[in-house]
Amino acid sequence: MQYRSTRGGLSPCGFEDILLGGLAPDGGLVVPERYPQITPETLQSWRGKSYPELAFEVLRPFIDCWPETTLQALIAKTYTRQVFGSAEITPLRQLEPGLFLLELSNGPTLAFKDVAMQLLGNFFEHALLRRNRQLNVLGATSGDTGSAAEHALRGKRGVRVFMLSPHGRMSAFQTAQMYSLLDANIFNIALDGVFDEAQDLVKAVSADLEFKRRYAIGTVNSINWARVLAQVVYYVKAYLAATQAEGEQTPQEVTFSVPSGNFGNVLAGHIARQMGLPIRRLVVATNENNVLDEFFRTGRYRVRAPRETRATSSPSMDISKASNFERFIYDWTGADAQRVCALWTQLEREGSFDLAADPCWPQVRGKFGFVSGASNHALRLQTIREVHARYGRLVDTHTADGIAVAQAWREPGVAMICLETAQAVKFSESIHEALGILPSLPAGMADPALRAQRFYRMPRDLGLLRHYIQAQVEGAAC
Ligand SMILES: *Cc1c(COP(=O)(O)O)cnc(C)c1O
Repeated sequence: MQYRSTRGGLSPCGFEDILLGGLAPDGGLVVPERYPQITPETLQSWRGKSYPELAFEVLRPFIDCWPETTLQALIAKTYTRQVFGSAEITPLRQLEPGLFLLELSNGPTLAFKDVAMQLLGNFFEHALLRRNRQLNVLGATSGDTGSAAEHALRGKRGVRVFMLSPHGRMSAFQTAQMYSLLDANIFNIALDGVFDEAQDLVKAVSADLEFKRRYAIGTVNSINWARVLAQVVYYVKAYLAATQAEGEQTPQEVTFSVPSGNFGNVLAGHIARQMGLPIRRLVVATNENNVLDEFFRTGRYRVRAPRETRATSSPSMDISKASNFERFIYDWTGADAQRVCALWTQLEREGSFDLAADPCWPQVRGKFGFVSGASNHALRLQTIREVHARYGRLVDTHTADGIAVAQAWREPGVAMICLETAQAVKFSESIHEALGILPSLPAGMADPALRAQRFYRMPRDLGLLRHYIQAQVEGAAC
């Protein structure tokens, strides 16, 4: 399988090259040259496969640069009961007939990002070892991504992680989850500033190509193709589980509702659908930051300025633009890189583009099955209360947004599968506000708040950050 850029400026290259890279050199996103097809017969033959076996089947056509046994071993090492709490890895729970919850947040940091990030950690280690290279992952986090990355890369050979977080602005749980990692290759930098300022510093370091090359600076952000790809697996797994649970005469199509921010998770659903998985609809659920809902309702994609981005009680969906969205638009144009270039040039100039007048606009809903909705704080809390009362389950604020938006898109005879993107305990402040109770930690998990913490507090200063990275990289003999 060869990969290209959505903007046409990347000569075809293999999986390992794009695994370690970020954006394509032309500023576009990396995409596979085609989507391998899953036939109904193939799907049938996958019934009864374990998560690692299924992951191997789904990933193999995309990753043909490694021997099959290597890929198998990396997958087997990643998706274990020890790390994800059950052999099912992503268990599907029926809430009521026709309504399901897909548990994606049973990994080490209790958010769905672990599912992809844990695999990425093992892929990185393997690729770096093979190439005899080192990588210094530099990132900024507002909570979930940084923590998932650190838990996936801790102790891995050839990788260091430098993660900037806004000092004093994450939830106590998120802070503890990151700062309590004492591994020698993890460097938590608590920045005196807000998330956007941390992000700006990371961009400034990466813009210095000489520094970037010299210190082998890389990223693990949500546009990483391997992360998107790893997420395709649980759509297939959930489909098989739901259609089994529903019995014989039920229809073979299902709908997924996905709490969305950077459009990575639901893009994986789109890819599964393009591969032939019988998905009726993909419901894009947003919070008050409704960039994506606006697009899917009206055809207008308008990015927001950081000051227009609201801080909500589902913070991992507080985005001003959706990094992965370009990959969908590329598919919508029929792989027309020129058109994508033109649209993104317009986006940079005017801050928006509008596809409503395009003759192909109806395909977004028709051919591609996308629909959407937006939730808000009151609806989120009400949904948390309803789900708790009806099904005896605590869901987190992001998952609640997905369930709330899903209601409008339920259809008789079509299973609605809502993705659980985090566990309630990560956002206990909102759970307390909704229900007056505090969620407990999963059985067997030690409270991260009780562990010792280590972090380096830093003022907002590019020179200091560069110096810090330099000192750690040059000072270590690894
Ligand atoms: C990252 C995240 C999301 C948004 O996922 P995208 O792939 O960015 O659309 C939703 N919920 C939670 C809990 C997250 O951590």
